[in-house]
Amino acid sequence: SSASPLLAVRDVSVVFGGIVALNGISFNMQKGQILGLIGPNGAGKTTLFNCLSRLYQPSKGDILLEGESILTRPPHRIAEIGIGRTFQNVALFPNMSVIDNVRVGAHCRTNSDIVSDSLRMPWIRSTEKALNKKVDDILGYLDLRSVGHTTVSGLPFGTQKRVELARALAAEPKILLLDEPAGGLNHEEVYILGDLIRRIRDDRGITVLLVEHHMGMVMSTADYVVALNFGRKLAEGTPTQVQNDPDVIKAYLGSK
Ligand code: ATP
Repeated sequence: SSASPLLAVRDVSVVFGGIVALNGISFNMQKGQILGLIGPNGAGKTTLFNCLSRLYQPSKGDILLEGESILTRPPHRIAEIGIGRTFQNVALFPNMSVIDNVRVGAHCRTNSDIVSDSLRMPWIRSTEKALNKKVDDILGYLDLRSVGHTTVSGLPFGTQKRVELARALAAEPKILLLDEPAGGLNHEEVYILGDLIRRIRDDRGITVLLVEHHMGMVMSTADYVVALNFGRKLAEGTPTQVQNDPDVIKAYLGSK
């Protein structure tokens, strides 16, 4: 593939005690790509996701964003370098409104700018106004304006997932990491979410990594798929290529 990928995973291994959770994983993500990461239970998907979001430090290998290693960055700084994420079980502030949750996301990215601007510029309120506008735009984009002032805990699970997406988008990520976004959703909601993810990519050029058990969603949403098994890369390619790969078929049949 192309000479300069947005994200490069290079020979990443993770060992927990004696267990090799990831064994020399390499792949590239191109800008604007939706990459689906699949594999049977225990394949290493969550471990890789946690490396990308800086919760785990690989035992070996490197992860490069626009050619620069992310492994020297502390986990709480990843939003600033353009990595956004959602969680398997929604991790919003349940007692805060939708608007305030999304504002938190926007601040993750812009907080230090706002503080330094306010020291120099008396017209700082314009920054605050821009922030409000950004939050409002995102709420409109994800059809959340009508629940903007609603407390998150009072919303249906599917809507909470959309709020989480809104919060992640507010930080203006270059790459969005989605941890099993289809989990807990019904059939219709899964495909609505898949369409939404594609729309976000099409409209905003955001690159998406999708860790997902729901094979139908991966196959209909992703442009490219990487399949793991027992911590190794089993196959990669278009959804059709990976779906028809004999090793992938065998791995899934073997895992009940
Ligand atoms: P699932 O689909 O069930 O979530 P997965 O593909 O996400 O599975 P991982 O959770 O990444 O797989 O697990 C990969 C391997 O690493 C498994 O053998 C698991 O038991 C082991 N493992 C994962 N996290 C830890 C940890 N914190 N400590 C020890 N072993 C771990």
